[in-house]
Amino acid sequence: MAKIHVVHAHPEPRSFCTAMAHEARRVLESRGDDVSFSDLYALDFDPVVRASEFAERANSDYLVYALEQRHALERNTLAPEVRREVDALLASDTLMLVFPLYWFSVPALIKGWIDRCFLSGALYGGKRIYGRGGMAGKRAVIGVTLGGREHMFGPQAIHGELAGGMLRHLLQGTLGYVGYQVVEPFFAWHIPYCSDTQRADTLTRWRDFVDRLDEQPGMPMPRLEQYDDVFLPRRDHIGFK
Ligand code: FAD
Repeated sequence: MAKIHVVHAHPEPRSFCTAMAHEARRVLESRGDDVSFSDLYALDFDPVVRASEFAERANSDYLVYALEQRHALERNTLAPEVRREVDALLASDTLMLVFPLYWFSVPALIKGWIDRCFLSGALYGGKRIYGRGGMAGKRAVIGVTLGGREHMFGPQAIHGELAGGMLRHLLQGTLGYVGYQVVEPFFAWHIPYCSDTQRADTLTRWRDFVDRLDEQPGMPMPRLEQYDDVFLPRRDHIGFK
């Protein structure tokens, strides 16, 4: 039995994207997996990083967000909504994000969830990145709905590469960075404009993808052993280890 944390953000609860998130939960639970599910709109999750989220500051004079995250983690004073997500992330073997593509990127709610919950000290820190990251040994996968058609994305296509290009910040710079083995993403193309039959086919393809999650290939990530330690930044001067 796998433990999977599903995180979803869409402003319309009857959206296709939300249907994908709920279908994923249903398929995973029917396999016997233990699923935790965070619908960030339903939770009214605050995506904005701010000083006031720290009840007790390490340095009340000047905010270094990552250091205050570490301090709050150590003192057990994280904001409850962040604590809940961090606990779910640490307890799960797999993280699944389900969201619509907004402006070549993630919706602000997903971005803010990452900023607040991918906690320095717990998920990464100093030289604990990629294969040494806090989430090494776990898997991450994204299911994304788009307006664009499949042929609009690719090395020679108008918008360029999707997984290796516009979503690299998420797949490598975030999920891979903290150590996850990142699964090749699932894309639901052209969703608002395609026919009902095509949407039904996409949902069938998604259910099958989720059901075979363990068999999905991973994406290549930088291997630390290929880079001399000298190229890794020294951060101990501002308190990182
Ligand atoms: P919806 O509009 O919710 O659903 C489409 C249709 O599916 C509806 O008719 C709905 O009734 C139906 N449906 C719902 N549930 C089901 C079900 N279970 N089975 C079958 N049908 C169902 N797109 C890009 O390609 N690139 C971008 O950079 C981009 N940027 C964007 C930026 C913003 C701010 C916004 C708002 C949109 C952007 N888009 C972009 C488009 C966006 O990604 C798509 O509109 C979105 O992903 C479509 O998914 P949805 O769930 O919102 O579809």
